Amino acid sequence: MKKITIAIDGYSSTGKSTIAKELARHLEYVYVDSGAMYRAVTYFAMQNGYIDAEFFDRDTLIAALPYIKLHFEFNAGLGFGEMFLNDVNVEKEIRTIEVSSFVSKIAEVSEVRAKLVEQQQQMGNQKGIVMDGRDIGTVVFPDAELKIFMTASAATRAQRRYDELKAKGDDVSYEEVLKNVQERDYIDTHREDSPLVIADSAIEIDNSDLTREEQLRIVLELVLRFGK
Ligand code: C5P
Repeated sequence: MKKITIAIDGYSSTGKSTIAKELARHLEYVYVDSGAMYRAVTYFAMQNGYIDAEFFDRDTLIAALPYIKLHFEFNAGLGFGEMFLNDVNVEKEIRTIEVSSFVSKIAEVSEVRAKLVEQQQQMGNQKGIVMDGRDIGTVVFPDAELKIFMTASAATRAQRRYDELKAKGDDVSYEEVLKNVQERDYIDTHREDSPLVIADSAIEIDNSDLTREEQLRIVLELVLRFGK
């Protein structure tokens, strides 16, 4: 079957990456977590003191963009590419609640978006890619053969993210996680540059009550339908 481009967008913690990874494994496609790239830039900004709870030095971050080198390295054990920032594996560091609390502010900066979108488009130029994020079907791959928009209730999503963080040993409260999910959704849907919207021709899947197996089955059927 001819390889296609699959764009998966949606709100925070809708399980986009779980389904995208499984889909890529099934189809032997490349999986790219575009959110990891925004998280890595955020981690860079935090490490360099460009952003904290009261302060964001946007201009200095923009000036420093040429010094941010991002790449993914496939980890066969995990079955996906891990995020490297300036040749250092930051896969763990970018998944904290602190990074989550700043990332949507960083993702509002058009210069950051332009740099990451260009790199994402290059990664997809051979097709055979599953990429998840917020603007994949609208901006990164507007011509993707299959576009999926994942949704689930905010409470379901916060509970999933809370369970994930707790399992990793993070000391967070459910309320803190719910607040973060809601804040990110608000900023992501209201920003000027590339807001999260349902792309034309995207297929919406509400997975609040779907198991992983059910979601994978639905998505594989869509690949068969749209991949020809
Ligand atoms: O997917 P994840 O939740 O890890 O993404 C983190 C944040 O990165 C999102 O809340 C959003 O602000 C930003 N993002 C984006 N565009 C993408 C992917 C992520 O703006 N394509």
